[in-house]
Amino acid sequence: SLTVVACSDKIMKPSVSYMTDNPLETRVDSILKLMTLEEKIGQLNQYNGFWEITGPTPKEGQAAKKYADLKNGLVGSMLNVKGVKDVRALQKIAVEETRLGIPLIFGFDVIHGYKTISPIPLAEAASWDLVEIKKSAAVAAEEAASVGLNWTFAPMVDIARDARWGRVMEGAGEDPYLGSQIAIARVQGFQGDDLKAKNTILACAKHFAGYAFAESGRDYNTVDVGESTLQNIVFPPFKAALDAGVRTFMNSFNELNGIPATGNKYLQRQILKDDWKFDGFVVSDWGSINEMIAHGYAKDSKQAAEIAINAGSDMDMESSAYVEHLAELVKEGKVKESTIDDAARRILKVKFELGLFDNPYLYCDENYEKETVGKPAFQEAVLEMAKKSIVLLKNEKELLPLKKSGQKIVVIGALANDKTSPLGSWRIAADDNSAVSLLEGLKKYKNNSLSYVKGADVAVGRTQFVWETKINMTDKSGFAEAINAAKGADVVIMSLGEHGLQSGEGRSRTDLGLPGVQQELLEEVYKVNPNIVLVLNNGRPLAIPWADEHIPAIVEAWQLGTQSGNAIAQVLYGDYNPSGKLPMTFPRNVGQVPIYYNYKNTGRPVMNEPESVFWSHYIDEKNTPLYPFGYGLSYSKFEYSNLELSQKSFSDNGQMEVSVIVKNTGKYAGKEVVQFYIRDLFASVTRPVKELKGFEMIELQPNESKKVSFIINEKTIEFFTANSKWEAEAGDFKVFVGGSSAQTLEGDFQYLNN
Ligand code: BGC
Repeated sequence: SLTVVACSDKIMKPSVSYMTDNPLETRVDSILKLMTLEEKIGQLNQYNGFWEITGPTPKEGQAAKKYADLKNGLVGSMLNVKGVKDVRALQKIAVEETRLGIPLIFGFDVIHGYKTISPIPLAEAASWDLVEIKKSAAVAAEEAASVGLNWTFAPMVDIARDARWGRVMEGAGEDPYLGSQIAIARVQGFQGDDLKAKNTILACAKHFAGYAFAESGRDYNTVDVGESTLQNIVFPPFKAALDAGVRTFMNSFNELNGIPATGNKYLQRQILKDDWKFDGFVVSDWGSINEMIAHGYAKDSKQAAEIAINAGSDMDMESSAYVEHLAELVKEGKVKESTIDDAARRILKVKFELGLFDNPYLYCDENYEKETVGKPAFQEAVLEMAKKSIVLLKNEKELLPLKKSGQKIVVIGALANDKTSPLGSWRIAADDNSAVSLLEGLKKYKNNSLSYVKGADVAVGRTQFVWETKINMTDKSGFAEAINAAKGADVVIMSLGEHGLQSGEGRSRTDLGLPGVQQELLEEVYKVNPNIVLVLNNGRPLAIPWADEHIPAIVEAWQLGTQSGNAIAQVLYGDYNPSGKLPMTFPRNVGQVPIYYNYKNTGRPVMNEPESVFWSHYIDEKNTPLYPFGYGLSYSKFEYSNLELSQKSFSDNGQMEVSVIVKNTGKYAGKEVVQFYIRDLFASVTRPVKELKGFEMIELQPNESKKVSFIINEKTIEFFTANSKWEAEAGDFKVFVGGSSAQTLEGDFQYLNN
């Protein structure tokens, strides 16, 4: 029975008053029974950290209204509150001054760390190292929890095929299988085994759904995606996150096939809550409920609130539409009170799961905060993660690894001396200049001569929120000095790419080359000294065909976080043998975008009629990418041979095995990510030419070889078929195993369905 253990009209402290040994549902319902409609709606309301806690109480304007709402129990959650002191002050109001004393939940964008910053998520994905990625999320969770936070708006699990879209830096790249594995690792890392523990936080799978498919790669733009792509490509990482126990989802700014995601019943009710039985809660994206007005889907904020709640958006992030209109909508019969109850119940349940009712100040321990933030173990973890995220794209003339003594090394490029850009986007709480620069990392290797010339600025375009005007994007006045310095060097390290804020939300690009005059600088330096190691820092795939053709060594170093410079230096000097593989295709030309390895054949595949114009191609560019998905070199060399299948076919409930031999034929010990792909040759819905289905990281000494095998069963070949369900269809398949999506050994098998 739903026993209310204590009830009073005066201030209550549920943490004390409710029987803590009752089942969770009972505890939730016993609170719900006490709540007025307005208080329930209050739980659905999330405000931005609006109030200077140490300052005077706000008397007027929006802040005063929000403050009053907080005191009246009309706020369920807050975001962007920084630090234990402020969290505690706000929590105290909620717990001690509101009628029911329901604790707040504090959310924050801990996307790749709080103050100790890991590589951007796309870079981490390049490690293909699920253990390390999970650890990195756990570090972020522990640090964030220590400053009073309970909830991160991460992981972003949007599968992204368009490098123009600035938010590709926040995800795991283009592949649904890799994306799903990484989603699981991140959810487990953030949430740990016990949500009540002091070092774990809630995770949030976002943005549901389709956000990365914005037309033209322009952020927030229209999304029109058919069901097959939604089910087979977009949804899997969300489903994987859910199965891994993620307790919140965030919806999305974009419209999907004519209906804004925030007001989309199909997404939130049908798929998420009905089909997948998700029983946590959905938060809107920032102001996305009111954005439905601009979309042309709601006539005003009141109608937007009606649409959003009925479609299954449980919590309103910062648009105030719920707190202002839901009560009236219930009275008018446009929203059922049971719908409000359901949303409030979901949110309360998660608060119980976090342990907030048992101890609302669990996360508010100033001593713990002090000893936790930035601690040495975190630095070590993000350094490890950073090294593993680096991808070696090219290495000729044995330029790398660098010799450790007797070398004259000249470093050129503004990014080499930049201590902020390596932090990338989404590092709200981290201080500017808190990353180890490349130059600082290189200086630790003392037996070479090292000098630095900037050469040219990185064109910024836009900083955090405004257009940058300080930097002259065409200034070549530093070229002469750089060219001069390069002349006598044994090796020139050129550190080029994007400023840390050139990717991220709202930072779409139409050009995927090196911004500003960096390309010209590269070409000019090359004329006097071709012994160049190009170190790229960027938040998205770049199109750099000239560099690929001319520059002997290219290292993709993304934006690697706090320990960036140390990680890059250790890789350049061979103290870590690079092992990363691209999680996203690098185009030759922005005109090829969206370009991805798991594309489908046309009726006129490339191979058919290369002499004719009537095949699917460009007249001015190849179809192939510059660097394919899954690609990445090592200082070792790995040779693949002996692809073997245990059988020619399998049937219902059966399985078979594919194996290869991988040998390290190089001089160094190294790690290799062995990748396993399939192709379904004909099916009820056309299938991609290749789909990743498994991978394994192995480590081999020089001359060592190892047999690596993968299981093939119905799970491997399942997809969302013409019957509108996930199932395995009988037919002929190809299997591929190799060190990238483009370089594989192959075999054939059949699935015989009875
Ligand atoms: C982003 C979300 C983020 C939210 C809160 C929005 O603009 O799209 O991903 O979690 O802001 O900061």
